Amino acid sequence: MTTADALAGRRIVVSAGPTYEDIDPVRFLGNRSSGRMGFAIAAAAARRGADVVLVAGPVSLPTPPGVARVDVRSARDMHRAVLDALPADAYVGAAAVADWTPVAPAAAKLKKQPGVDRLVLELQRTADILADVARHPSRPRLVVGFAAETSGDLAAHAQGKLRDKGADAIAANRVGVAGSGFESPDNALEVWWRGGSRSLGPAPKTALADQLLDLLDTIAASTDRA
Ligand code: C5P
Repeated sequence: MTTADALAGRRIVVSAGPTYEDIDPVRFLGNRSSGRMGFAIAAAAARRGADVVLVAGPVSLPTPPGVARVDVRSARDMHRAVLDALPADAYVGAAAVADWTPVAPAAAKLKKQPGVDRLVLELQRTADILADVARHPSRPRLVVGFAAETSGDLAAHAQGKLRDKGADAIAANRVGVAGSGFESPDNALEVWWRGGSRSLGPAPKTALADQLLDLLDTIAASTDRA
């Protein structure tokens, strides 16, 4: 049941959008996340009276009313901002965090060299924010991740992420399907938790955010009993 004060007194940290990993001062590695799903979740939680911190990668979206926004650029910045926002009652990791970042970003713009037609870019893994939140001494009561898959067995991937990252729930969507995913206003989610799974949508991301918060209430209650 959605009431204006259903989440009053609760602190919720949401991450949203892509991260940009700098190659040199003018180039970066990014991804196609629009940030809309995470912003919709932050907005919905604020409408329910939660104290919401939204850690946003580079996106062009307005800050939802009543939400405290922290803008970041790289996975490293996002990691720091999310951990700094703890303790919290819940963390929803909706950001599409880069898995790889250049080992040594160039201080000056990389120039083309006559006769050189290859460039090798060395990348290193970024820290996993979701996993680090899940094992943090101030672990939120509810830790929720997202999974964007372009192919394969969504269920197996989601179950694997629940286990490997120590999350309480994983909301999976298939990207690259019309009417769903990264750059679309609509989305469809399959949410997995230890006790079950549920399909939400297809629906506009704003409506889906409310459905997801309702479901998270149910999941939190079920894990309280477990
Ligand atoms: O492993 P994968 O990137 O598919 O998992 C997606 C989930 O993990 C999302 O919730 C995303 O925000 C989170 N993630 C993270 N830090 C990373 C990579 C992913 O928090 N470095």
